[in-house]
Amino acid sequence: MNRVYLDYAASTPVRPEVLQAMEPYWQHSFANPHSSHEEGRMALRAIDEARDMIADLLGCTSREIIFTSGATESNLMAIQHAGPRAIRNELPHLATTQVEHRSIRDAAHILNQRNTLRLSWIPTDMQGRVSETLLRDFLEGHQDDTAPDVISIISTNNETGVENDYHRLSTVAQRHNVLFHTDASQLLLDHWTPLRETALSLMTLSGQKMGGPKGVGLLYVRKQTPIRALFPGGSQEFELRAGTPAVPLIVGFAEAMRLKMRDSEQLRSKWIRYREYLKRLLSDSRPDILFSFEEGSVHPGIISATIPGMNAEDILIKADALGVALSMGAACSSGSSDPSPVLIALRGREAAQSTIRMSFGTETTDEDIRVAGERLSRVLQNMA
Ligand code: PMP
Repeated sequence: MNRVYLDYAASTPVRPEVLQAMEPYWQHSFANPHSSHEEGRMALRAIDEARDMIADLLGCTSREIIFTSGATESNLMAIQHAGPRAIRNELPHLATTQVEHRSIRDAAHILNQRNTLRLSWIPTDMQGRVSETLLRDFLEGHQDDTAPDVISIISTNNETGVENDYHRLSTVAQRHNVLFHTDASQLLLDHWTPLRETALSLMTLSGQKMGGPKGVGLLYVRKQTPIRALFPGGSQEFELRAGTPAVPLIVGFAEAMRLKMRDSEQLRSKWIRYREYLKRLLSDSRPDILFSFEEGSVHPGIISATIPGMNAEDILIKADALGVALSMGAACSSGSSDPSPVLIALRGREAAQSTIRMSFGTETTDEDIRVAGERLSRVLQNMA
């Protein structure tokens, strides 16, 4: 049976061009990029070129790109170690939302419980979106001593696909003199506005979400943003990230970003087509199916569907047996079948327990969607 993978929001396959770009850096140019011999310089040149390429794509300077082990690390650094208080070793104050990825929401909650982070929640609307007005009101209520050091608001929600207008939000934050971070791991990267033209201070990206390898990410840190390293032990990455840089992964990450940016407009139109087709087909099988995250700007490659009265886990198991890979929400809660806290916060426990996520990738084909649609319709009808 040919399987159909519809869980690209959890991870994407490495693209062939990316594999090819990484190939020389496993065995041939394997040296430590901080060694002073020619082999080391070769590895360093590869990182420098990858950094320059990414800076060019994102519209910032190379000095503003810090390579990390992935979005989780970048997020932690941004929420805990950026801002004037963090630099002075005082208690940093983060303001964020209840609909962030766990690497922010849970991390912030735990750090707050340990008394190493002061935490405020910014309200969202029912779509899990923060409007300019909501942020402005929040900041007007938090001035002087109660002002946060960093605001962190997700760009594209990994569970619902709901997109925030992070450019406008960052401008609001800038007017209040507060650093703005966004976790852009799930961003489509089309119609890119160069970072130098935005008011963003910090941005997280992850290789594995864009056809690159797992275990590599970056934190964009705008020039002059106060920030310190997450852990001591080395002077790599402009003294901000100790440890030998992962040369092959960094090279692959840069190539993946180049391809994703090149293809993203085409992907958007392809995914809109797939989205409409699948939604129509599933609505025909189950007229009570709810697509409740559709208002405003939504990532076309992420569909959140609630099937009232049905258990999402049962749907996933049956779909899996028929050869379709889906998820309940975030894969990062794997091992646990608890419904997603993000969905519980926005829709309540009952709806959260009946919600599945389908997500598309560069590799998704018309045939995949046709086969998945037919198999999922069968699952939903048989379970009725
Ligand atoms: N943020 C978001 C929005 C994500 O979707 C993910 C991956 N599920 C992460 C952060 C964590 O990414 P990584 O595995 O690269 O640390």
